[in-house]
Amino acid sequence: MAPSSSGSSQTSIADRIARVRSRIEATALASGRRPSSVILTAVSKTQSDDALDAALMAGQRVFGENRVQEAQAHWAARRKAFPDLELRLIGPLQSNKAEDAVALFDVIETLDREKLAEALSKASAKTGRSPRVLVQINTGAEPQKAGVLPEEADALITSARDTYGLTVEGLMSIPPAAEAAGPHFALLARIARRNGLDVLSMGMSGDFETAIRFGATHVRLGTALFGDRPVVPRVLND
Ligand SMILES: *Cc1c(COP(=O)(O)O)cnc(C)c1O
Repeated sequence: MAPSSSGSSQTSIADRIARVRSRIEATALASGRRPSSVILTAVSKTQSDDALDAALMAGQRVFGENRVQEAQAHWAARRKAFPDLELRLIGPLQSNKAEDAVALFDVIETLDREKLAEALSKASAKTGRSPRVLVQINTGAEPQKAGVLPEEADALITSARDTYGLTVEGLMSIPPAAEAAGPHFALLARIARRNGLDVLSMGMSGDFETAIRFGATHVRLGTALFGDRPVVPRVLND
């Protein structure tokens, strides 16, 4: 029988998860925070079934995906075996996919426009599922990047809550790749504070310790846990 590589890759994913968890704990403690106040979201986009299962076996339960269809393929069946899974949508959502997203995800982190708030509200009424919502802020005002502009954030948060009845629990952002992340994390924390929001999804593999120092409650890590992402052709249109 041909030797399988899954044994060693499972070990290394489990090892990486353990190492990242201890870095999260140490940074939280050094910032005067409880380690349990920082949740690790494992970003499982493009990962193989072996990688997903290795993360599950290592006890990981919170996963982030950036496309609805891929997330369905990854998690629809696994969710039955692991009812304590938490699935978070961290990629842009088209209004016409709102119903599928609401049916699958527990948290949608990428609300960035009123039209999508309306679509999520309708989808919740139709499906009877009401995922919690984060508003994505384009803190760097980058033209190519999703997210509401900082100066338009308060209005969107208010209308998502009051007009559309969504459970807005926090904010999410992806700082510009070429800038220091700290000021962007600080801005996100300020917008959250003045809107009475507790959840801050910020920090990725390269900057999660900085994000924790600025108050991140959720760090979204892919490559630090799984290694480099396999390059896959983009064939699904979501
Ligand atoms: C892919 C992705 C991540 C994870 O990025 P890494 O650098 O691999 O940790 C985090 N957040 C979002 C929105 C992503 O799309």
